Amino acid sequence: MSDITQTLPSHWKYVSEGGATIVFSYVGPPDPTYDGMVLRLRKAVNGSPEQEATGEDEPDDPVIEYQTRCMERVFPQENLPRLQSVRLERKWLKGLVEMHDFKRPEARRGKDHVDFSRKKGVLATDLVGGDWIAVEIKPKWAFLPSATHLSGDTKMAKTQTCRFCMHSYMRNVEDQKYVNNYCPLDLFSGNVGRVHKAIDSLWDAWEHSSGSVNNLKIFAHGKVVKPGQVERLVREDVVASTSPEKIREVFKEAVCNTLLRSPVLTIISRLQRSLDVLDIEGLSKLWREAELQSPLYRSAYASYFEQPVSSEKIPPATPLGVPSTHLPASEPTISDWVEFLDTFQSAGVAGMDHTQPRIENLRYYLLAYLLSATFKDCSIIVKLDFLGLENITEYKVHPIAVIDLDPKGLDRLQRWQELDRGIVYNYTPAERKVCVDGWAELSGVFD
Ligand SMILES: [Zn+2]
Repeated sequence: MSDITQTLPSHWKYVSEGGATIVFSYVGPPDPTYDGMVLRLRKAVNGSPEQEATGEDEPDDPVIEYQTRCMERVFPQENLPRLQSVRLERKWLKGLVEMHDFKRPEARRGKDHVDFSRKKGVLATDLVGGDWIAVEIKPKWAFLPSATHLSGDTKMAKTQTCRFCMHSYMRNVEDQKYVNNYCPLDLFSGNVGRVHKAIDSLWDAWEHSSGSVNNLKIFAHGKVVKPGQVERLVREDVVASTSPEKIREVFKEAVCNTLLRSPVLTIISRLQRSLDVLDIEGLSKLWREAELQSPLYRSAYASYFEQPVSSEKIPPATPLGVPSTHLPASEPTISDWVEFLDTFQSAGVAGMDHTQPRIENLRYYLLAYLLSATFKDCSIIVKLDFLGLENITEYKVHPIAVIDLDPKGLDRLQRWQELDRGIVYNYTPAERKVCVDGWAELSGVFD
């Protein structure tokens, strides 16, 4: 394992931070271990008691374990960022903070700081920070659900209009900011014309939102490109001879060309649909059935079960994913995910009849739904060389990287179920959008 003290705090540059981690990129002298890498450090809340130092045997960051034990089983290694553990040292971390903390947004500084007690951090491939264009796309839901488990009042909407398009409609009604016409089913279709359409819609939403749209971000030389700065995407020798319209066209073709040559979107689509086979409605029904069958629940509400008809009030239902004495539901650990993937990737799954899910498989379906959500929420990074005017087939195609593959917890299910209802019931446009799931059409397997 490399040791961060091989570098100086001044060899690193503050890049960004999220809720739990903060990221620095390496800008020091050439070094094969650190060139092209970022350092990801865990944060601690200001004023919280410092974690007991765990000593030399501190486990690797869970991000590394989750990737090596789970995600490498579903994606080719070249489509995942390289992650490795790096040894940290308190004095070095203090020096890093002293030098760079002023670069952090003030609101963040008031809240948390680099966790000095950690003995290990994560080195990861710097996907956006080099001399290339990095296009970050959040593709979202890839499929239309099967009608099997949908209720009468959602079936029509859900099997015609995809989840993302219904959600966009609701967002637009709520804040009227801009219309997002992007349909993920176009992006996932594998069809050149439809992928072009998807990229065009993403670009429009990017322009109309002044670059704040969540589904498309563009970086050049590691810096965010805003609409109106598109000449930054072009090679220096041709920048004088291109128009913004031409740049948009070449960009679209280059992104499309990379997407269609990569297995990544196909893998994400296949995973999403084979993991979310019940829809949240079917999952919720199975959850309730399991509760009704639970011996503890039946004895707690014995009078109801003895005379289930008429007078007796229906006993209360526990919300989806919330553990109770009748139906324990523990948050999945990494070992649970490994075990789940063993089952998911085994031949036995093919024999499961998802049209009639069994109560004893509830845990399987819960974890499957959560993992599907991970793939509905991940992003991909398309790496492009700076754009020229030559034929698109002459461009070098770089591997696409899949990022933001964090495991989701059962505690999210209840909120997702409410959101799902909200989205469907609020979908009342003058004319319903018809989204075409090219996969279902082709195979019919998923009906
Ligand atoms: Zn759609």
